[in-house]
Amino acid sequence: MAAAVIAYIGLGSNLDDPVRQVQTALVELGEIQQSCLLKHSSLYRSAPMGRADQPDYINAVAAVETALAPHELLSQLQRLEARHQRVRRERWGARTLDLDLLLFGAAVIDSEQLCVPHPGLAARNFILIPLYEIAPDLILPDNRGLSELVQGCPRTGLQRLENVDQPLS
Ligand code: ATP
Ligand code: MG
Ligand code: MG
Repeated sequence: MAAAVIAYIGLGSNLDDPVRQVQTALVELGEIQQSCLLKHSSLYRSAPMGRADQPDYINAVAAVETALAPHELLSQLQRLEARHQRVRRERWGARTLDLDLLLFGAAVIDSEQLCVPHPGLAARNFILIPLYEIAPDLILPDNRGLSELVQGCPRTGLQRLENVDQPLS
């Protein structure tokens, strides 16, 4: 694999057997062209953002090594979302699968289709805590250490799931 970069991907689902949606998606991330799945976090349950009248989410974070360009990886993620019959109704509304590109190496990208680091990264416990589980020494492109962000991060509404199958373990 030429010029590979490590990308971190946030997974979320709150419809149609969310644990299975996330487990399947983790396997599918490893099947993306010119990419391989290095690691993934445990699965977590989180209270929904946005409308409260939707089911809890299941979340995880994965590290993928890829030789794709960032926008190519984003299209592969969107293809996987579509494969999970994701329907876009409203922002932060219920969905079968959300795959967000959290980080792409040290890249900073701000285009209409793609913002990296993901704008929600530093404020969302369901991203920070699973990310810290697989990459505790990570430094963000703006030089903030992930461990500092995690220290200031409330765990409210977040629960690590025990006793569920983890595709890589
Ligand atoms: P949020 O991004 O706040 O978590 P969301 O995941 O519900 O909200 P989506 O409906 O999945 O939002 O995505 C809306 C658009 O966001 C997509 O069409 C995509 O082009 C754009 N986008 C920008 N940056 C990213 C990123 N880092 N990862 C995924 N999508 C992104
Ligand atoms: Mg999202
Ligand atoms: Mg998204």
